[in-house]
Amino acid sequence: MSDFEQLRQQMIDFQLVARGLHDQIVLNALKAVPREEFIPTDLLEFAYRDSPLPIAASQTISQPYIVALMTAALELKENDRVLEVGTGSGYAAAVLAEISDNVYTIERHKILVDTARQRLQDLGYTNVQVLHGDGTLGWPEHAPFDAIVVAAGGPEVPKSLKQQLAIGGRLVIPVGASLDTQKLVRVRRISEDVYEEENLGSVRFVPLIGAAGWEDETAEIQATVKLKPELSLSELIYQSSEHFANIYDVNLNNLMERIDDSRVVLLGEASHGTAEFHEMRARITQELIEKKGFTIVAAEADWPDAAHINNYIHGLEPDALLQSKPFSRFPTWMWANQSILEFTHWLKAHNDKVGSSDDKVGFYGLDLYSLYSSMEVVLKYLEEVDPETAEVARVRYGCLTPWAVDPSLYSLAILTKQYRECEKEVLTTLQNLLKKRIKYSLADGEKFFNAEQNAKLVANAERYYRTMYYAESNSWNQRDQHMFETLQDVLKFRGPESKVVIWAHNSHIGDASATQMSASGEINLGQLVRQKYGDKTYIIGFGTDHGTVAAASEWGGPLEIKQVEPSHIDSYERVCHEVKTDNFLLPLRQPLQKITRKKLLLERLERAIGVIYKPESELQSHYFYASLPHQFDEYIWFDETRAAEALAKETTKGIPDTFPFGV
Ligand code: SAH
Repeated sequence: MSDFEQLRQQMIDFQLVARGLHDQIVLNALKAVPREEFIPTDLLEFAYRDSPLPIAASQTISQPYIVALMTAALELKENDRVLEVGTGSGYAAAVLAEISDNVYTIERHKILVDTARQRLQDLGYTNVQVLHGDGTLGWPEHAPFDAIVVAAGGPEVPKSLKQQLAIGGRLVIPVGASLDTQKLVRVRRISEDVYEEENLGSVRFVPLIGAAGWEDETAEIQATVKLKPELSLSELIYQSSEHFANIYDVNLNNLMERIDDSRVVLLGEASHGTAEFHEMRARITQELIEKKGFTIVAAEADWPDAAHINNYIHGLEPDALLQSKPFSRFPTWMWANQSILEFTHWLKAHNDKVGSSDDKVGFYGLDLYSLYSSMEVVLKYLEEVDPETAEVARVRYGCLTPWAVDPSLYSLAILTKQYRECEKEVLTTLQNLLKKRIKYSLADGEKFFNAEQNAKLVANAERYYRTMYYAESNSWNQRDQHMFETLQDVLKFRGPESKVVIWAHNSHIGDASATQMSASGEINLGQLVRQKYGDKTYIIGFGTDHGTVAAASEWGGPLEIKQVEPSHIDSYERVCHEVKTDNFLLPLRQPLQKITRKKLLLERLERAIGVIYKPESELQSHYFYASLPHQFDEYIWFDETRAAEALAKETTKGIPDTFPFGV
């Protein structure tokens, strides 16, 4: 079945049968006519929508349901002679011609007559004749008609049409004293002089203009304006999104369908300190785990910190330790917060229920800030499995130790050329570890994997810090490249069937090639994942307008709860704020209305709040240009958000921020 045939079948099921239309002859006729052939090409995607659509001469092609309803009301038989007034696109005429042998149709706009005639001929409807003229006068040469249908609303039933009805004939017409609504009337000619009239319900049609219709064209123009108000982008978003009241009972079934069989699902956030972003990511991740067999959560967190969570959810550590050990470096609240704590408890409970270790969910960190603790892990591991190598590694890593607690000093030291670069030393340690991969991994695969990732991290972190002060975009790229490599390693480790959910900031997961970042040569994780996994990637961005956020004023500064400024007038956030609902999912890759996606493509500002938020210089510090539908496959909106609830804990000294856009 072609896509259009499928849509046509859905139209029959959901727009017609579901509304109680069971006339099989009429259903068959609508099923036989390719409605897409009667639609202007730029509106093709809406061919089977449950609504009228604009055609040339400011007219409309009727809603499928109305065509079906009127056709059914005509009680057509095969050898009936049928007259239609108001050919328009010719669609209804084709439906009539599917049922009856002789169809005559009249249209007052020449352009519509010409196109409809050609179209009907091309589609092989040889039993339809199209006339250019005033249909209120009928078509006396071919009268009497067994059925007459009028596709435009007049002030009364035209006498000439009644007179052209055969005895027993049916005339169906919208009639009303105002242009706004009409009632659908069926007139049945009982005898030469007797007509019976029935009301079939309220309808709304374009006006019938002519001798026995409305007088002048201003009526037509007025009505047209009312029928086709230009929809604002916010209104389009409203119509093209799935609205929800709260995170706990949002229905994610459609989202799961859109994600389909993706292997990598990336969940973003528009700030590092917003509770709703974490909570919604947890909801989505839980469904991905339970319904689609995802077994990996990979976060923009440091590997050794994430390893604590991983141990906890595998029952290897007594609690998530979020209050104490991991994430004790600035910015602690980014992961050590209430929402994450609850999520780790859920992961633990899930893993406890799952039998096989292959099916248990693992939690991994993709980031590379943890130079010092990674070195510790490598050394500790080597001491256990190979104490001699541990000694050698300790000497080699010694090269980095003066700076390990605050690695940013390392890059400053290199700038002043006071110290030799440590690249060779850290790489040799990594290489040695990799060489012994088989020997070590036989002993314990997961432990070796952990040590190996830490060693890679040390090597990448060394390079990262070294380049940080030379070329900012280069160090950004190295960091995202590291995240991508780590992701690949995790996927390889968990096997070819494994599927991963990534939690990271919008600026890492949204495709950088669709943003201002690309102009300065920056790439990111989302872009690399898309390049590698193609349509098996699903990227979801998050956004908000106002509320509170957990953030610092400078790197290493104390956590503050700040007010998020209402969004900038030229931003995507502002457009979303104007949507008349607070929370929604907006599919962008498979939009509910293509026109919405099209209109969103034009670049606008987008806000990124990192661990630092500077409302006083918001435009320069936090906004960048992007094309939302290219950046994300879907966008999730919370109009108002609240700050993430940080867990109280001791902190250790931090390192400089390299977040783009000066955050
Ligand atoms: N049946 C059409 C719907 C057309 S809308 C379809 O399936 O596409 C109604 C049409 O009636 C318009 O094209 C309008 O131009 C036409 N119309 C209005 N007054 C008319 C009149 N007096 N005579 C003929 N056509 C008329």
